[in-house]
Amino acid sequence: MARLHEHEGKALLAKGGLAVPRGMVATNPEQALAHAQALGGRCMVKIQAWTTGRKAIGGVALVETPEQARDETARMLAMRVGQFPVEKVLIEEAIEIERELFVSLFIDDAARAPALLLSLEGGSGIEDRDAGVHTIACHPTQGVDEAALGRALEASDLVPAVREKVARAVRAIFEVARANEARSLEVNPLAITRDGEVVCADCRITIDDYAVFRHPDLGIEIARELDHPPTRLERIAYQVEQQDHRGTFYFAQLHTRAEEGSKGLVGFHGAGGGGSMMSMDAITSAGYTIANFCDTSGNPSSAKVYRAARIILSQRGLCGYFGSGSGVASQEQFWSAYGLAKAFWELDLDIPAVIRLGGNSEDRAVEILESVGAMLRAPVEGYRKDDPPRFIADRFDRLVQGSARGVWEPRRARMPSFVGAPSSMRVEIAGGVLWIDTPNWAAAAQTAVAHSAGLLADDAGTPRLCVSEEELAGKDSELIACEIECLRGGTPAVFVELAIPGLDEG
Ligand code: GDP
Ligand code: MN
Repeated sequence: MARLHEHEGKALLAKGGLAVPRGMVATNPEQALAHAQALGGRCMVKIQAWTTGRKAIGGVALVETPEQARDETARMLAMRVGQFPVEKVLIEEAIEIERELFVSLFIDDAARAPALLLSLEGGSGIEDRDAGVHTIACHPTQGVDEAALGRALEASDLVPAVREKVARAVRAIFEVARANEARSLEVNPLAITRDGEVVCADCRITIDDYAVFRHPDLGIEIARELDHPPTRLERIAYQVEQQDHRGTFYFAQLHTRAEEGSKGLVGFHGAGGGGSMMSMDAITSAGYTIANFCDTSGNPSSAKVYRAARIILSQRGLCGYFGSGSGVASQEQFWSAYGLAKAFWELDLDIPAVIRLGGNSEDRAVEILESVGAMLRAPVEGYRKDDPPRFIADRFDRLVQGSARGVWEPRRARMPSFVGAPSSMRVEIAGGVLWIDTPNWAAAAQTAVAHSAGLLADDAGTPRLCVSEEELAGKDSELIACEIECLRGGTPAVFVELAIPGLDEG
């Protein structure tokens, strides 16, 4: 489920007519100081991070002066939640809370309808409120079950005027959830203030992934569950996935540095859910920390695998590259091998790589990968379906322990010198450019034509396209194969320049 931050959720509540404290987001201490001054000094400082119980971890503070707001902000911006740094805090006017209720909307799968948990019994600070929790059914279009809401309020000790305000707030919360197609919406606390007002003091809302596209105004960049706001690389990967629907691609960052006592940080590249999980277990058991989870499967294009590898290798401090997924992927594995080989060559890989390419055409896939690996400074080993994850994790360990033990520094991809040269042939393709080194074509022609899947021909020493440029545009995988075969043949005269928007700029 796609999550929003507290301040974003509160903006939706406010739009829905609910009372929320005035507040502003700060990304640095000076901003916090200014916001706190504007709010009159006394205020709340709250980390905007996707975690529960922020108060318990020091992520919620009540301050009396703008200077304290500044200092608390500085402290909180140095916090990490899980592996990820806190990037912003909410500076909010402090309200005088008399009593804390809570409202939590969820989807009741059995009833195939939303329902509300409503607690009216909590006094401020009382943690165990299970006793007074009511479940109130909701109708998808007609809203809360008024009779049930009425009974819950009747049974409470709230004074009638406050009851009416709570009822209004509950209905409005349901409307906000419905209008935004929320999967869940929790207001905890729903605060009763000293002067009897009902104010939403916190908000946790998730939007149905499949509904996100209907709500561009919410600014959700990645419509899926993440435990942290998307990182730069995750955003880049998501764009790659959106632009290339051949096979799946999933990338999530897990650790930015090796855990205590770990042997090192590993770039992980899986293929296929279950096999990827087993492989992650194997490499973790071998004593390594996984920097990221990545999955390219379901017949991914070479370009997609290439881009995935480039993104994985944009992470700092890796001691090696570990690729392993489903043992018998029902995809022609050489397409993945070409993509990996291309990325490794362009980045001049100098940390060990161990890749299991089990599945159709695995022998050819391993040969492609290892022959390009032989041109690099790093050991690159390919494995097959009969090599279990545990075995290849052990191989990886040996290579890393036996290598110069350098750590990876992200670098720019190298390109052959004929890229951009006026003498080269240049053809735009989807997401990139095909370059052919015309002056050196003659030597490469035989290999290039043979491995071009009928796309290229040789006209007495001059390259010629056998298909229209439109048709060629979608043949990036075939052209990558041709490039790598020319490289392997010692006559690198074909090169596919592939863009990864956002990656090279960063
Ligand atoms: P959480 O711990 O992540 O759920 O963060 P909350 O935003 O719910 O804040 C935790 C607690 O801080 C609340 O349950 C309140 O007791 C307290 N709190 C939050 N906002 C205010 C406020 O404006 N005034 C006062 N007095 N207490 C607040
Ligand atoms: Mn809360």
